[in-house]
Amino acid sequence: MTTAPDLLAALNPTQAEAADHYTGPALVIAGAGSGKTRTLIYRIAHLIAHYGAAPGEILAVTFTNKAAAEMRERASHLVPGADQLWMSTFHSAGVRILRAYGEHIGLRRGFVIYDDDDQLDLLKEVMGSVPGIGPETSPRVVRGILDRAKSNLQTPADLDRAYEPYISGIPKDAAAEVYRRYEDRKKGQNAIDFGDLITETVRLFREVPGVLNAVQNRAKFIHVDEYQDTNKAQYELTRLLASRDRNLLVVGDPDQSIYKFRGADIQNILDFQKDYPDAKVYMLEHNYRSSARVLGIANKLIENNAERLDKTLRAVKEDGHAVVFHRATDHRAEGDFVAEWITRLHALEGRRFGEMAILYRTNAQSRVLEESLRRVQIPAKIVGGVGFYDRREIRDILAYARLAINPSDDVALRRIIGRPKRGIGDTALEKLLDWARIQGTTLLEACARAADDRILDRGANKPVEFAQLMAAMSDAAENYEPAPFLRYVIETSGYLDLLRTEGQEGQVRVENLEELVNAAEEWSQDHDGTIQDFLDDAALLSSVDDMRTKQENKGTPEDAVTLMTMHNAKGLEFPVVFIVGTEEGLLPSKGALVEAGGIEEERRLFYVAITRAMDRLFLTAAENRMQFGKTNAAEDSRFLEEIEGGFDTVDPYGQVIEYRAKTWKTYRPTVPVTPSAVKNTSPMTEGMAYRGGEKVRHPKFGEGQVLAVAGMGERQEVTVHFPSAGTKKLLVKFANLTAV
Ligand code: ATP
Ligand code: MG
Repeated sequence: MTTAPDLLAALNPTQAEAADHYTGPALVIAGAGSGKTRTLIYRIAHLIAHYGAAPGEILAVTFTNKAAAEMRERASHLVPGADQLWMSTFHSAGVRILRAYGEHIGLRRGFVIYDDDDQLDLLKEVMGSVPGIGPETSPRVVRGILDRAKSNLQTPADLDRAYEPYISGIPKDAAAEVYRRYEDRKKGQNAIDFGDLITETVRLFREVPGVLNAVQNRAKFIHVDEYQDTNKAQYELTRLLASRDRNLLVVGDPDQSIYKFRGADIQNILDFQKDYPDAKVYMLEHNYRSSARVLGIANKLIENNAERLDKTLRAVKEDGHAVVFHRATDHRAEGDFVAEWITRLHALEGRRFGEMAILYRTNAQSRVLEESLRRVQIPAKIVGGVGFYDRREIRDILAYARLAINPSDDVALRRIIGRPKRGIGDTALEKLLDWARIQGTTLLEACARAADDRILDRGANKPVEFAQLMAAMSDAAENYEPAPFLRYVIETSGYLDLLRTEGQEGQVRVENLEELVNAAEEWSQDHDGTIQDFLDDAALLSSVDDMRTKQENKGTPEDAVTLMTMHNAKGLEFPVVFIVGTEEGLLPSKGALVEAGGIEEERRLFYVAITRAMDRLFLTAAENRMQFGKTNAAEDSRFLEEIEGGFDTVDPYGQVIEYRAKTWKTYRPTVPVTPSAVKNTSPMTEGMAYRGGEKVRHPKFGEGQVLAVAGMGERQEVTVHFPSAGTKKLLVKFANLTAV
C-alpha cells in the first residue's frame, strides 16, 4: 500500500494541488486527456490516506456504471476500503436513494423502472384520449418533450405556462395534458421512468429534509466527473446534496459538452464560480494522452468555436505518427480501408485488436464496417446499437419478472399476456381493463377476479389461470436467487415451448435467454442482491456498460476491435483510433445544420472523437454513401478544412497525396470556364472539370484513375494513380490525358 506523500507523486504539480484540495467547493476545468479523471481518483485516495476521510462518506458520480467500476478498481490499488466508496451514475444514485426512502413521497415498495420502450407503450395508451393530439403525432416526439421537460425540472403546469404556443410542433396545452395523464397512469402502476430517477430524488430532498440530511451523511465529499454534460435536474440534485457540507469537487471540459440534445446545459460548468464564489479553480494544461500531432489538430479544430472558454493544452508526448486522412470511393471502400489498416497494424506493428477503436456518428454506420472486418476475420465488438437487453425475448422475460415483483405493472402485463397465447383476446382484455379502472385496482387483480366477479361471460378461467401463474412467480421471486428465478420464469411461463415452435429463429432466442440466465448468474457473483436489484441494474445499463457490452457480443474474443459512436467514446482512450464518415450531413449531422449552436456542438463531438487517440489517428470519408437505401454523393466535412495541414492524405495504395477539400461546389464550378482558358486543354476537359474516380489514359503512363482535382482551366491540376507508374500530379494543360 502506498503512503500518502507517494500518492501525489504520480501527478504533476497542478494535478497534485487539485488532488490535495480538502474542503469547500472546487472546479477542475481542463481540456481532453489532461488527467481530470485521474486527478479525481487520486483526490479520493488522498482524502482517505492523508486527511483520514472514511470511504463510506465519499461519493463520486461518473458517466457510466463502467467508469464507476473502473474508478473503484483504480482507487482500490491506492488505498484500503475502496469497496465502501459510493461510485455511480446519477441514475444509479437516484435508484438507490429512492429504493431506500421513496415511500416518503408515495413510492411503494417494489416500484419498477420504465425504460424507453415502456415509456412509449404507456404514452401510446394515453395519447389517444387527449384532444389536440392527432393520430399522426409520433409518440417518440412526445417522449422527447417529456424527457426534456424532466431534465429541466418542468412539471405539466410549467408546459402550460410555456411562452411558445407549440412545443416540437405539438400545442403546449396538449403536451401538458399528455404529460399529466402519463404521470397519473405511471403512478397508478407503481412505476417510475428514467427522468424520474433524478427529478423524484430532487423532490424527495426538497420535501423531506430529514432524508436529505441522512443521504448527506453518506456523501460528505462529493465528486462529479464530466460535469459539462449535466442537465438542470442533475445540477439541482448535486446542489442539494452539497448544500450542507459544501465539499463539492467537479471536473469537466466545456469543449466536450455533447449532450445538449438531451438537456445538458454547458452553463452549469461555466457558472460554477457564480454558484460557489469561494470555489478554488484548477486548470490543467498538459495532455498526457495524445501524440503532439493528434493534439495539434484537436486544438486547431476547437479554436473555431466562437462560444468557448479559452484554455491552454500542451502535448507531453512527441509528434508521433502522421495523422492519416483517406477519402474512399464509397462507404464499402471506406470499411475496407479501415480493415486493411487494422490488419496491417496488427501484423506489422504487433498492435492488439483491443487497442483499436472505430468511431462513427450514427449507429447505422456500423453494419458496413462490421462486414468489412468480418471479411478479413478481424474480431470486433460493438458497443451500443440494438443491444442484448433490447431484444424481444429478453424484454418479455424481464417483463414477467417485473410483474412478479410488482403486480401493479400493467405495462408489463399487457406486454406478456399474449406471449405465449393464453386465449385472452383483445375484447376480454378491454373488459378486464375497464373493470380495473372502475374498481381502482390493477389489471392483474381483474384477471384474478374474472370468474368470481363475472367480469367475463366466457373463458373467465383463462385470466384466472394467468393470475395463478403470476402468484406462483411472485412466490418464486421472494425465494429464489436471480438466476434460478429467471430460469423458473422462462420454463413455467410457457415461453420456452413457444420458442421451440419457432424453428431456427426460435433457437437463437432460446440461446439469448440462456445468456440472460448466465448474465444473472455472473451478476450474483459480484453482487449481493435480489432479483429486484438485478432488474434495476439491467434497466440502468448504458450502452457503454460492461455487462451490456459483454452480453451483446457473446462469442467475440476478448481481444477485439471496438466499434462505437463518438458519443459513447467520451472519457475513453485507445492507442489507435479510426474516425469514419467525416462528411457533411454526418459530421456535422444534417440535424445540426438547422439547430442553433448545432455546428458548434458537432465540432465538440469531433473534438471528443479526435482526443480519444493516443498514438495513431485515421480519418476517413466516402465520396458516395448509401443512406436510407439511396446512394448519394458526399462532401468532405467542413471540419476537415479547419484542420487542414494537420494530416496527410493517402490514396487507396497508402501513398501520400495533397489534401484538396472535396466539396461538390469545387467539382461543379459555378464560374463558367471561358473559351480562352480551355483552348489548349485536351478534348475531354473542354468545358468541364475532372472528377475523382474517373478513368483516364496518359501517353506515357498508360491507364490510371483520377484521385483528386484542383484548380480550373489553365491551372487545373489532377492527381492520378497509374498502376504502372504510381501516383502523379499533372497539369491538365500539358498532360494530354484522354478519357477511357
Ligand atoms: P477526458 O477529458 O478525455 O475525460 P481526462 O482529462 O479525464 O480526459 P485522464 O483520462 O484522466 O484525462 O488521463 C488521460 C491519460 O493521461 C490517462 O492515460 C492517464 O493515465 C494519463 N495521465 C494523466 N496525468 C498523468 C500524469 N501526471 N502522469 C502520467 N500519466 C498521466
Ligand atoms: Mg475523463
